[in-house]
Amino acid sequence: MGQLHGCCGIFLEMTTEDRYCPQCAGRLRDSSVEGVRRPVCPDCGRIVYYDPKLATAMILERGGAVLLVRRATEPGLGLWSLPGGYVDRGEVVEEAAVREVWEETGLRTRVARLVGVFSEKGSPVVLVVYAGEILEGEPQAREEVMEVDFFDVGEMPPLAFERDRDIVAGRLGD
Ligand SMILES: [Zn+2]
Repeated sequence: MGQLHGCCGIFLEMTTEDRYCPQCAGRLRDSSVEGVRRPVCPDCGRIVYYDPKLATAMILERGGAVLLVRRATEPGLGLWSLPGGYVDRGEVVEEAAVREVWEETGLRTRVARLVGVFSEKGSPVVLVVYAGEILEGEPQAREEVMEVDFFDVGEMPPLAFERDRDIVAGRLGD
């Protein structure tokens, strides 16, 4: 198995899916192309390009406090993060954010506005963060979550992704 990126659990190295060339079925070789690591086919020259991985999260506020979920999965098992997750291929990103919040907390929400798009050098994940509005429901821990709660920005619990702190602070600063 390949090595997982620490912040997001995405494979950074070749996995069983990209061991063979999609064009000629030749054995791929892990190579560096223009300084970026990519599998290359020595037989036909085919280069396999890895796409970024799109994730989305939602900031939901109530009385100045922000909703966080305590994760029941890796990465960040037992730590807190904004509710969210990966966007499915073909899915509208705003709908993915609403879906993830529903799956994790049982809240019906809608997207109010885009907060920002966040990426880091070396990380495969691109995170799209929205500010949302709660339409209906009381938060409860559901799929892949062991606890849900609202936190004041100055009193955030231990976070799975440190950048959530800056994202939330930036959101509340405007
Ligand atoms: Zn090939």
